[in-house]
Amino acid sequence: MKKYILLFFLFVCFQDSLFSIDVKKIEPAFWWAEMNNTELQILLYGDRIADCMLDISATDVRLKETVRLHNPNYLLLYLDLTEAKAQTFDIILQRGKERKTIAYELKQREARSSLREGFNASDVLYLIMPDRFANGDVSNDVIAGMKENQVNRADPFARHGGDLKGIQEYLHYIKDLGVTAIWLNPIQENDMPAGSYHGYAITDYYKVDRRLGTNEDFRELTTHAHKNGLKVVMDMIFNHCGSEHFLFRDKPSSDWFNFPQGYVQTSYNTTTQYDPYASDSDKKKALDGWFVEPMPDLNQRNRHVARYLVQTSLWWIEYAGLQGIRQDTHPYADFDFMSAWCKEINEAYPDFTIVGETWYTNNVGVSYWQKDSKLAAPRNSNLRCVMDFPLMDLMTKAFEEEADYGKGVNRLYEYLGQDVVYANPLELLIFLGNHDTSRFLKNEKDAANMDRLRQAYVFLLTMRGIPQIYYGDEIGMYADKKDGDGLLRADFPGGWPGDAFNAFLPSGRTDRQNEIHSFLKKLLSWRKNNDVIAEGGLTHFASNNGVYVYERTYNNKSVVVILNGTDKGQTLDLMPYQEILRQGTVKDILSDEIYPLPEKLILNPRHVLLWEF
Ligand code: CA
Repeated sequence: MKKYILLFFLFVCFQDSLFSIDVKKIEPAFWWAEMNNTELQILLYGDRIADCMLDISATDVRLKETVRLHNPNYLLLYLDLTEAKAQTFDIILQRGKERKTIAYELKQREARSSLREGFNASDVLYLIMPDRFANGDVSNDVIAGMKENQVNRADPFARHGGDLKGIQEYLHYIKDLGVTAIWLNPIQENDMPAGSYHGYAITDYYKVDRRLGTNEDFRELTTHAHKNGLKVVMDMIFNHCGSEHFLFRDKPSSDWFNFPQGYVQTSYNTTTQYDPYASDSDKKKALDGWFVEPMPDLNQRNRHVARYLVQTSLWWIEYAGLQGIRQDTHPYADFDFMSAWCKEINEAYPDFTIVGETWYTNNVGVSYWQKDSKLAAPRNSNLRCVMDFPLMDLMTKAFEEEADYGKGVNRLYEYLGQDVVYANPLELLIFLGNHDTSRFLKNEKDAANMDRLRQAYVFLLTMRGIPQIYYGDEIGMYADKKDGDGLLRADFPGGWPGDAFNAFLPSGRTDRQNEIHSFLKKLLSWRKNNDVIAEGGLTHFASNNGVYVYERTYNNKSVVVILNGTDKGQTLDLMPYQEILRQGTVKDILSDEIYPLPEKLILNPRHVLLWEF
């Protein structure tokens, strides 16, 4: 008899394991009480989980809605947390006799979480591609079971082993350079077969890629960054995910992705977002087409997708203590969704900054995406900060061309005159290059042209907007996009154990690298806490014999920049600039000299002067 009881017991156990409720994913894995938006979507993923009945144990958490999608492997819960206190409650799943209890935590938010300061024109961002900056932990270079399971530093498109520990190790270097914020290219998991070292093919929105570290490592990095006076900006992507994401491999419903029947390439023609004459088919192809085949296009018009994406951003803001988000391919996503997202974030965190990647070659396109744009009215993107790509293009030309009609520094004068299109020019991200473009120095010849570089950095760091520097620019790293994107993201020398040169230290840099580094460091240190640059108005003068002069002014203080946009020496009469020049002494920031305001100025070829009054 005992034998039969045992057999029966084993049978029950077997049945249990065969039919037990399997939960593969709970997203988000935890949340916070007293968030601004009191609704919480919880996505449960597991074999036939939709067959389960569902209940929750808390009395102050209300189950508003349970959603079963076409795919029975998903169950969505919408909770009302209006009355909920921080606690752990149970989510109870019941299927026939099977029962599963999931402990779900609502954490207490950090004090003053919603009042965090975003980044603004008082800041300078330092952009880092985490795989390529420094390898602080060689033990995570290759993770068993991940699809791309090797590093090869000789291959520009392979993983190189850089990680969050590496960045943390060199925070003192970044702080010492004088920037005030770091922006990291995406750090979330990209478990793709190859070529995802850049991070833009996310396969888990809630998890740091293990080759870069853990979620805890990221939180430790942000804590250390804050202690060093550095804000942290996280890169996010709502337009698409990686094709190995479980949401794509096992789609919840046929309308979770755009073009669900299969890959249709986007035209990249995002001018259709504002073009009054755009055809519907052009719009659809641009916005719903996939960025590339391994990056399928998410349908943000599906309310469940929309909520899912918004919550990933709220989760990281709270979890990691972010000051900003850089949103990838911003104009490729649904306008109304992106607008609602920006609005929700700024209602929850009034000073938080989102910058959208608004890659247009003209200021009409960029300005259309800025919050309160007159061009977009009555639509409003609610996106505070946009990227000034057109200015990047002009800066690469302005400081090497002769300042002829429409050329050289005249390009800058003419472009800035069109700032009338921008709702807020101070909230433009300005940069000489980033991970997707040629570096400002394309080749060895550019790297030898110190005059061009000095003019460019003085301009960048005194112009309206929020400057961003790309890692390695401070030591004159050069790269040309025509040689492939992999080389735009070369390893920072010294970031890997055994590197021949350690450019993190003056002794590991060439004289030219030290010259560039010192010049930039001096400017950055001067710019830090400089309210004239952060908040000041701008007055400029049409170029005079190729010399371009402008002033920033604030609270009776002023900064004047004089740029000789020609390869000739010049004598500049200062009489025409009386409205901005003040009598008395001039503080020359680049030479550290103080001298009386001259009547005439002798300028060398490509001379740049930075005066403070
Ligand atoms: Ca590593």
